[in-house]
Amino acid sequence: MTIAHKDALPADWHPSESPKPANGNGLKNGATPEMTDAVRTLLLGVGEDPDRDGLERTPKRVAEALKFLTSGYDQSIEELLNGAIFDVGHDEMVLVRDIDLFSMCEHHMLPFIGRAHVAYIPKQKVVGLSKIARIVEMFARRLQVQERLTRQVAETLQEVLQPHGVAVVIEASHMCMVMRGVQKPNSWTVTSSMVGVFKDDPRTRQEFLNLIQHRHSF
Ligand SMILES: [Zn+2]
Repeated sequence: MTIAHKDALPADWHPSESPKPANGNGLKNGATPEMTDAVRTLLLGVGEDPDRDGLERTPKRVAEALKFLTSGYDQSIEELLNGAIFDVGHDEMVLVRDIDLFSMCEHHMLPFIGRAHVAYIPKQKVVGLSKIARIVEMFARRLQVQERLTRQVAETLQEVLQPHGVAVVIEASHMCMVMRGVQKPNSWTVTSSMVGVFKDDPRTRQEFLNLIQHRHSF
């Protein structure tokens, strides 16, 4: 069995890519003048003066931040994995726990923040541990619902590794629930997606669930 904690991931794991250089209009990350105009309109809509000190550069910042937070649209699984699949004949559970997760709900475009736990039981093929975190990040940096995000991570690993099974649990706190609506600051949403042996074998599933509950002491 292999258990990795996010903090123990190899050095090539980058929680955030460096922003792309400015394009012709002086905006970074592929943000467009239409986006900055739209943010300006939003500011007017909430009763603000977009030209006052302090807000002058806000439309540009918001547009660029939004492009960065949705940069997962520009990534593909092929590019991301880039040959990091290895044939090692390992066939015991691999678990990466506590992968930090930052995404945005597609209903309110507000953040949801939490942790992902991802396990699989290889059938020969394994993937670099850091790549598992990158896969989570690629799907998280899109407008999401937590259920789909959970399923996409599980289905992607199943597809690229064809393991005996994949298990993904995501625990997250949604700002659209915390800051507005029901305003329950302590509510967490837990979603899971089980494929293969994790779905079919209650003991394997239970082993995974026990492992993600255990609080590490290092
Ligand atoms: Zn929402």
